[in-house]
Amino acid sequence: MFDAIVIDKVDDAQTVSLKQVTEAELPDGDVLVDVAFSTLNYKDALAITGAAPVVGRFPMVPGIDYSGTVAQSAHPDFKPGDRVVLNGWGVGERHWGGLAKKARAKGDWLIHLPAGIDLRQAMAIGTAGYTAMLCVLALEKHGLTPADGEVLVTGAAGGVGSVATALLAAKGYTVAAVTGRTAEHEYLMSLGAASIVDRETLTGKVRPLNKERWAAAIDVAGSSVLANVLSSISYGGAVAACGLAAGMDLPSSVAPFILRGVSLIGVDSVMVPKERRIQAWNRLASDLDMAKLEAMITELALQDVVATAPKFLEGQVRGRIVVPVA
Ligand code: NAP
Repeated sequence: MFDAIVIDKVDDAQTVSLKQVTEAELPDGDVLVDVAFSTLNYKDALAITGAAPVVGRFPMVPGIDYSGTVAQSAHPDFKPGDRVVLNGWGVGERHWGGLAKKARAKGDWLIHLPAGIDLRQAMAIGTAGYTAMLCVLALEKHGLTPADGEVLVTGAAGGVGSVATALLAAKGYTVAAVTGRTAEHEYLMSLGAASIVDRETLTGKVRPLNKERWAAAIDVAGSSVLANVLSSISYGGAVAACGLAAGMDLPSSVAPFILRGVSLIGVDSVMVPKERRIQAWNRLASDLDMAKLEAMITELALQDVVATAPKFLEGQVRGRIVVPVA
């Protein structure tokens, strides 16, 4: 028996609690992992609170990512003792996830953790940080270089935004960090932001085009925030969009695309092919300042995860939450 957070649903009523489960209850898979760390991501908060229909099957152990050590493997690429990380693939949504002391998964979903990242750092990065890296890779693929000008990061004090700010600054980009929280200005400057943009300046009426202000952006907000960002991107620039913290809608126009050649690049972390994941994790190992990562971490015990989840949806969490599971 081992500890696991279990979401269940009976007659449309969702329950969530820390329970004892057995290895026999774990879903199918060819690798058994002793989970060392998991995290609380935005999507986990949606699943645990039931605020959005993230969970596709009940009972479900949430936790869209985890790091740990292989305990048993029938997969040719993994052997007991290997350090692994898992992000996405529907884990924590349709397949039991990482907020439990053990997890079973398909070996094809796992990645060997690169040297230079330990198991705790892997989950300090977590899906939020790995998505930030995917956004940076997308902008680089577009051709962005530090010489092009300022890069905007929305939701900068959150998980994706914190790691995106640190990654871009480490590569020599001038980062403008958007936040709705004045208390986090100093924190954002410590991560490498060159300037702070008040979130309220991006939530008003959307004009088709505004003054060209930023060469590119990483957006976690969607809705009118993303629309206002698009209107202010310089000619030929790009926005990597990965989130919906402000909303799922996009009240924009085609003006930025057809008059300024702006590109809107969608970034998904869940179903990304394995080679791109390995590229992202290797780049995180080489680019991310681990001292800055440390400054983003709040640790949360497994038994406190359920009570903390609602705070996530209120935008009250700074940086990354790490859950020591082992
Ligand atoms: P998070 O830690 O909660 O950060 C989100 C941040 O967005 C908040 O800290 C806040 O930052 C800002 N924010 C909150 N409400 C806002 C609003 N109404 N308008 C504008 N900004 C607002 O969450 P996260 O883990 O960074 O995830 C961010 C988003 O990315 C979520 O929507 C998540 O679902 C998505 N995501 C997508 C993928 C993917 O595969 N596409 C992967 C990971 C995450 P400030 O207080 O600094 O303003």
